[in-house]
Amino acid sequence: MEALRVGADAYASDLNPVAVLLNKVVLEYIPKYGRRLADEVRRWGQWIKTEAERELSEFYPKDPDGATPIAYLWARTVTCEGPGCGAEVPLMRSLWLAKKKSRSVALRMVAGNRRVEFEIMEDARAKDVDEGTVRRGSATCPLCGYTTPVASVRRQLKARRGGAADARLFCIVTTRPGRQGRFYRLPTPRDLDAAEKAAAELERRKAAHTGALSLVPDEPYPGETGSGALSISVLYGLKEWGDLFTPRQALALTTLARLVREAGEKLAEEHENGLAVAVQTCLAMVLDRHRSLSGIR
Ligand SMILES: [Zn+2]
Repeated sequence: MEALRVGADAYASDLNPVAVLLNKVVLEYIPKYGRRLADEVRRWGQWIKTEAERELSEFYPKDPDGATPIAYLWARTVTCEGPGCGAEVPLMRSLWLAKKKSRSVALRMVAGNRRVEFEIMEDARAKDVDEGTVRRGSATCPLCGYTTPVASVRRQLKARRGGAADARLFCIVTTRPGRQGRFYRLPTPRDLDAAEKAAAELERRKAAHTGALSLVPDEPYPGETGSGALSISVLYGLKEWGDLFTPRQALALTTLARLVREAGEKLAEEHENGLAVAVQTCLAMVLDRHRSLSGIR
């Protein structure tokens, strides 16, 4: 960057292909195309947003009262192995939804029919909020108190390829027009129905998909190499990269990835090839930045 600022030719290298691509954008595309690149990224970003909303809005319905869901909170689950229990236990590290001086909201777990049900506590005080169910990979059942050991949790999740595809939706975060902050509510049949419809649509698209690469990435997820960054695959038993996502998440991400590609094709018809590639690269980076690996939505 400094070399570039004084007008020198700048060269950079890295072993990591992501870093190489970032360098290419910063050291090559931005100086070469400047304002035009920014304008085209903004224009085609808007196009992708409009197209994605048109295609995906039925799977992310607004609330009947006008609130807009901005996040769906899901938890992987295991079956409690306590004697005679067999309850579905959501794996949750914490029951806090918001923990600020001005706003504190938490979940309370209550016994349902062979599964944990939730209630939302507004103005939650620390002394009233229970611990999560997971500690060091083992899962404690709120119904019977039994702790299913980490080896069993791992075995159960591995059999379900990580458990993202049949995770439990437990909370929806919304915003409301004209109101500040976030609101929290429990899922309704409408929410579950939308997620199920998305899963069906993903299956339909998978079946209809052609091409050298699968619709959802089926490359093997890095295995048990002992690196901390890979511990999610060790604990959850993911087989493929696609196993990271819930079906609706995979539907949204594959839609956005396809639109980025289509934007690149349309750009190539309008502009010389270099600029089209630069814009498509920036759009792909925006998508990368927005996809969430930390949680499943
Ligand atoms: Zn139990």
